[in-house]
Amino acid sequence: KNFEEMKFPKILIQAMKKKGIVKPSPIQIQGIPTALSGRDLIGIAFTGSGKTLVFVLPLIMFCLEQEHKLPFAKDEGPYGLVICPSRELARQTFEIVTYYCAYLREGGFPEIRACLAMGGVQVNEAVDVIRKGVHIMIATPGRLMDMLDKKIVKLDVCRYLCMDEADRMIDLGFEEDIRTIFSYFKAQRQTLLFSATMPKKIQNFARSALVQPITINV
Ligand code: AMP
Repeated sequence: KNFEEMKFPKILIQAMKKKGIVKPSPIQIQGIPTALSGRDLIGIAFTGSGKTLVFVLPLIMFCLEQEHKLPFAKDEGPYGLVICPSRELARQTFEIVTYYCAYLREGGFPEIRACLAMGGVQVNEAVDVIRKGVHIMIATPGRLMDMLDKKIVKLDVCRYLCMDEADRMIDLGFEEDIRTIFSYFKAQRQTLLFSATMPKKIQNFARSALVQPITINV
């Protein structure tokens, strides 16, 4: 399957082309249709595989769909959450999300607002976006926990969760935090988990966090 057959808007395909992304990588060929179908997904993949777009593009499509169904209220959101083990990865992911959202906006699609919740970024920056209504939040576990605890962020309407580099998050000792973060979800959600390695610990974690996931190993 190519990107056209995955039914992405033309403007999104043009935006990919600008980045030299023309042909889907193996994980994208398998992973994007799975993610678009709404199934839970385990992606065993390294950086460089193209894994980021496997969760970013379906997340953006999910937000566009919600925009047509629901009037988006102030103070509502996020619909989708991406948790990353490091600030560096969170920022990179945020930049990819905002790049594609800006393109869509230019192409006449609804505005999709994203925010970055992590140490080193003023909480107020996220709060401003949350007030307007935020669609996509990219976060590191510590800062997100803090914001949930202080009720600055709610996950009541959040229905799409991606954990990137899950093995690193577990290694860094974030498992408890992540389980606490799960407890803030109110609605049924689609969960995606990406990990470079799949030791028993991550397998057990995935089994408890995902529902009948499809595993993609490339
Ligand atoms: P990732 O594994 O998601 O961190 O992506 C690694 C790099 O590959 C990034 O610079 C992407 O822009 C690039 N990339 C992702 N998908 C493709 C693709 N289908 N074709 C060419 N480059 C890609």
